Amino acid sequence: MTTVKEIIGEMSNPSEEDIALVEKAYEFSKKAHEGHVRFSNEPYFVHPAATAKILAEYGMDATTIAAGLLHDTIEDGCVPREEIEKEFGKELLFIVEGVTKLGKHKYRGAERHAESLRRLLVATASDIRVLIVKLADRKHNMQTLEHVPEHKRQRIALETLEIYAPIADRLGMGKMKKILEDLSFPFVDPDAARHTAEVRTLKRQETEDGLAEVQKTLKHELAKKGLTTFRTDIRMKGLWSLHQKLRRKRDDISLIHDIAALRIIVPTVEDCYTTLGIVHALFRPLPGEFKDYIAFPKPNGYQSLHTTVVTPHAGIVEIQIRDEEMHRSAMFGIASHMSYKQLGKGVEKLGKEAQKSKFSALSFSWFRSLIPSLMKVSKNEGGRKIQVKVPPWLAELAEAHANIAGSEEFVDGLKEDFFSHRVFVFTPKGDVIDLPAASTPIDFAYAIHSDLGNHLQGVKVNGKLVSFDTPLDNGAVVEILWREASHPSAKWLEIARTSLARRHIRTALGMTEPEKPSRKRRARVIKTKNK
Ligand code: MN
Repeated sequence: MTTVKEIIGEMSNPSEEDIALVEKAYEFSKKAHEGHVRFSNEPYFVHPAATAKILAEYGMDATTIAAGLLHDTIEDGCVPREEIEKEFGKELLFIVEGVTKLGKHKYRGAERHAESLRRLLVATASDIRVLIVKLADRKHNMQTLEHVPEHKRQRIALETLEIYAPIADRLGMGKMKKILEDLSFPFVDPDAARHTAEVRTLKRQETEDGLAEVQKTLKHELAKKGLTTFRTDIRMKGLWSLHQKLRRKRDDISLIHDIAALRIIVPTVEDCYTTLGIVHALFRPLPGEFKDYIAFPKPNGYQSLHTTVVTPHAGIVEIQIRDEEMHRSAMFGIASHMSYKQLGKGVEKLGKEAQKSKFSALSFSWFRSLIPSLMKVSKNEGGRKIQVKVPPWLAELAEAHANIAGSEEFVDGLKEDFFSHRVFVFTPKGDVIDLPAASTPIDFAYAIHSDLGNHLQGVKVNGKLVSFDTPLDNGAVVEILWREASHPSAKWLEIARTSLARRHIRTALGMTEPEKPSRKRRARVIKTKNK
């Protein structure tokens, strides 16, 4: 059982208040889960305590760690939400409820829905800390998956692989992504996982001694150029990611050069390029294999120099060069921007307001990188890469914000737009329809097909009949009842929120007044809000 001391031990420079909060949440959660056991027959509290420790390791603040301790108290501990609010305040309740809600969306492997579900999760989370707690929760659940009944394992593992690992990737949390993938892989495809593990072990044995030699040579050369404060390590490619690559290369292992990579972590950006020069002078680089992700970061913010060189002792190997900051970012991604560790020493001496503004300035750079990566969704169909069309609302958002990027208002505005201006709802078959917030069943019907809207007779939300003006909530399942004899009325024009629905209603009513384009108007609204 993870002790509260161990959790606090992972926190860096916690204040007395921080410690008190974590201790209180620890005791509260322990009591709430008393008498409950997990599938492994261990006390249930093992799970929230482990989740909290993961969050502390990721450098999260005391509030998020406390939320990790409390994340299952409403759902499984049957604690009333009011009690959490009374004991821990609104902010903590918000995170705990957010995590509870996320758990309600289940992925059952329909690939066409995976992207929608990822988006839905990101949107419903509405606070990035909710997602980070959820990822920590999932990591521990995956570590203990073998105790879960067999028929459930596959679904949970698949969901982790296709929903949560990609979310971790988009948040730049490379370490979390790799761990989630490699924990899921053996449950999703045991044979392939075994095969890939064997391949990797062979390669490891083959290159380990060679890489140690390369490391020695490099250290020597770098020292000669005055570079002494650096470290190197050997990173093995994740099993799932190796499996994907093997499939792309028709199982030809000789075509894969990055199973084992040598990582060099240096103090500054300048040192990165100096080191690259030294590496290329020592070993011949393979043409076309050099990538400068420092000048051109990946969409999720990843930065490093990658080069593949021919070495006398280890054959062809990939070398990755980065500075400390990039390294931390690549491991922890968004979490590294959110954490107090990242704020540097002395932050605790700042006033509350100064702390807050420093915190939010740092914590939102993830968001800017999330938007373009959401826009570059591509699907693999029959081996061909197909660019999925960017939903217009996202393109609009990105466009509207393109000129004011960089300011804190920009990010706050973007966060608000992204999270609160859209609602994601399901058809009974599980397709996700995304609509502007406060959309009604009428908007939903027209979003699917004009005929469905024009003959809308009734509507069920989550199985219950509701009136046409009921605003739809995130995650609702909406069923449209159709009847030939039903037709739109003028009143619908007041109820419908989307211009698409209103245009169809006008046409059906025989009105000819053309709808004005709404694009510009929306963009302007967003801009004024940011002042
Ligand atoms: Mn949990």
